This record gives sequence, C-alpha cells and structure tokens, in this order.
Amino acid sequence: MIRRALFLASLLTLTPIAFARIEEETIPAPAAPPAGSTAPTRASKEKLSYSEVNVEGPYLAITFDDGPSTRNTPKLLDLLAAKHIKGTFFVLGECVAANPEILKRIAAEGHEIGNHTWTHASLAKSSDEKIRGELQRAEKQIIALTGMKPKLMRPPYGAMSARQRKWVHDEFGYNIVLWDVDPLDWKEPGVNVVANRIIKEARPGSIILSHDIHAPTVEAMPEVLDTLLAKGFKFVTVSELIVIDKGGSRPEPTKPAAKAESEAPAATRTEGIR
Ligand SMILES: [Zn+2]
Repeated sequence: MIRRALFLASLLTLTPIAFARIEEETIPAPAAPPAGSTAPTRASKEKLSYSEVNVEGPYLAITFDDGPSTRNTPKLLDLLAAKHIKGTFFVLGECVAANPEILKRIAAEGHEIGNHTWTHASLAKSSDEKIRGELQRAEKQIIALTGMKPKLMRPPYGAMSARQRKWVHDEFGYNIVLWDVDPLDWKEPGVNVVANRIIKEARPGSIILSHDIHAPTVEAMPEVLDTLLAKGFKFVTVSELIVIDKGGSRPEPTKPAAKAESEAPAATRTEGIR
C-alpha cells in the first residue's frame, strides 16, 4: 500500500510538470522581427491619407485649394496675418506659374503649401505616368520658388485609388490629404451659407476644405475664423495636425448629425470644379 501511495503521489507531482512541458512545446513562440528591424509589426499599416485627425485638444486645419488667385489670395493672406492663423494651401502648378510672387508670400508668411497637381487633373483614371508628370512638374516649381519640398498632396476632386495613394506616398513622400468639412463653396451658395456650413461642421481634428479662388469664400472667412476662434479652436497646418495625431478613429460627435450627412453624402463629394 505504501508503495502504491508513493507511486500515486509521484504521478500527481509529475503530471503538472509534464503538462507544462507539452504546453511549452505546442504554443508557438512569437515571430521574431526581421534582422535589423526595430519597428513593431504595426508599422506596416502606416497611415497614408487623412480626411480628419484624432487629436487631443481643440486643433483643426483650414485648407485653401486651386490657387493662388491674383484677385483673392492676397486678401486672404492679409486676413490670416491679422488673426495670426496659419493655413494650408493646395496650389495648382499652372496658377503658381501665373502668380509666383503670391506663392512666395504664402511660404514667407508661414503657411503650408501642398501639391494639388499642375492642371487640376482627375487622377483616378489617369496613368501612373500622367500622375507622376503632374506632381513632379508642380513640385519642382514649388521648390524653385520657396526652397521647400511639399509634404502633402491633395488629389483634385478627392479622386485617387488606394493603389495610387500608396505609390505616390512611397515615391514622393506625400501624405494624401482629403477633408471632413466641405462647405461646397465652389458652387458659390452665398457668403453666409459657406460660413454657416463650416462653423456647424468643424470639430477638433477637422480638415476644412475651401477654395481661395472664389471671392465669396474669402468674404466668408472673417466670420468663420472669428467664430471658430471664439469657440476655442486653434488653427494649425495640416502637417502639424498630423504630427499630433493620436492614431485610431476619431470619436463620433455626441449630438446627432443625420441631417448634415444627408445633405452631402460622402459618395457624392465633389471638390473644386473650377
Ligand atoms: Zn481642387
């Protein structure tokens, strides 16, 4: 009996060890990172494009497309300077060629400049060569005039496939910038309508789309900027907004916004018909 008890006791004590050994062998070890790599595996999901940013604090960015415009951009620059606000200008190469001094002024006053192609080409159905030519030509000119390489591009009409975004990001180093606030100002619905749409839709982390080639848009800006400043918003450039991105999705607004969404569904977004 004593021997049998000892045998059982030894079985009971050994069994957990035996199971533990089996577990060690059957649970696969985490894959080792490739040699020389210090980045976590999540780095492969690097974000290429932004229509909004998930930020801590009341930061947002206002953007102006399709210029520079001889008639409107200097007025806008005066206004931004008076209010100490930095914006982001997605310029067209052909407009820069017509207004090189205005582009230099935009840069000198601390605003960010992004590439919006040379001719406002619709990129989604263009060949890679056509896209490369549009972006290269505009970029070369921006660098020649300002000494700075753009970090951002915005596709005209927001139209660009996932594959195109990836190779443009890899080849040019651009972040692809869309928007989450669209006042449809290119339809020229009136100064007050443009102002009210922007004020109503702006949230922390927003990227506001507008066009400095349209006089009513520039006329709407004093009210837009004053109201958003009074609400406590802080204007930064798009690249500054991206730097403070927390990653992940931005929380949904607390109040229902169903009406605003039905007014401009994402699928029908159109940007800047000139
Ligand atoms: Zn545009």
